[in-house]
Amino acid sequence: MKVKSIESFILSDKLKESFYFSQWEYSERQICIVKITSDTGHVGWGEGYGPAGLIRAGITHLTPFILEQNPLEIETIWQIMYRRTLDFARRGILVSAMSAIDVALWDLKGKILEQPVHLLLGGKKRDCIIPYATGMYFTNGDNLGDILSEEAKHYAELGFKAMKMKVGLGIDEDIEHVKMVREAIGPDINLMIDANHAYNLREAVQLAKAVETYNIYWFEEPVSPEYYEQYAELRTKTTIPIAGGECEYLRFGFQTLLKSKSVDIVQPDICATGGLTEAKRIAVLASVYGVEIVPHTWGTGIAIAAASHFIFNLDTVPGRLKTPNCYMEYDRTENGLRDELTSTDMIFEDGEIKISDAPGLGFDLNEDALHKYALTDKNEIWT
Ligand code: CA
Repeated sequence: MKVKSIESFILSDKLKESFYFSQWEYSERQICIVKITSDTGHVGWGEGYGPAGLIRAGITHLTPFILEQNPLEIETIWQIMYRRTLDFARRGILVSAMSAIDVALWDLKGKILEQPVHLLLGGKKRDCIIPYATGMYFTNGDNLGDILSEEAKHYAELGFKAMKMKVGLGIDEDIEHVKMVREAIGPDINLMIDANHAYNLREAVQLAKAVETYNIYWFEEPVSPEYYEQYAELRTKTTIPIAGGECEYLRFGFQTLLKSKSVDIVQPDICATGGLTEAKRIAVLASVYGVEIVPHTWGTGIAIAAASHFIFNLDTVPGRLKTPNCYMEYDRTENGLRDELTSTDMIFEDGEIKISDAPGLGFDLNEDALHKYALTDKNEIWT
């Protein structure tokens, strides 16, 4: 059996209303997805997290080394890709390109073997996982605190048991917004905050101490991902658990994060950090350090499906009679690519997600949506 063709697509959705976070504004969602077809006619889909054009260039670089390989030998292909990128980019966008291909190969393997990816990863270890709504970005309206509170209430009404809001506008505004959102949703819903590394250590300590009273489930990317020691120091100065890792790549990057005792929760993005193959290694590494893992996910239904299969397969560390919840990031911002590109076998009910035993990653790709969003002059196919 051989890989027969690799196609990549750059998809774009221009948003009706732009939104922003502590770093920049989004008026468009763009993503690079990849389709791998075997000589048996089976198809697998993957996507990379990061600037779509650059990921596509990475896929172009890797393609000649993957064509004609046996698609069932995913680790063999992963190692080829790693060796072909190591000398030029040990971290970053080439690893995202590898990730897209790796995710597509897992979907393809599942389709070929007619088994769900969670089974191929080693088994489904829980009946349900808990999605947390990612939203509450900044908008240009007046009374942003009211807007965020209304959005939070909406997620609560939908049944979400956890949700994450953005901070990083400025300490005083952040404190006011967190207070308003907590009052809007009541005491029982887990609330996380995410600064996207907007602050220095002094500011992060100040914000953390000020919002401890609002029962924050974790504080994500408080400071720059470059400052491992500052993460570790912040952990000693607040009772709020610290999360990070969406900017880390490969198990080697996560080893640095874990060795430096920087975080309570690691957040690898499966579509950036080396695919499902490497994410599984990172999960093993995190278990060695006894650190919780909740993947970062911000893409289409392909990325969400990959994350869900990974989380259903995660070991519970530590094990105990009453299994603790496993969380999944569930982006709720406007994104036609996420909503229309794939069907889903996921069932969201009572704030929990269940998935089926459908083959591969469990979705069908909607070709109409693909053509609707694809920047057609930028598609390439290699055979
Ligand atoms: Ca984040």
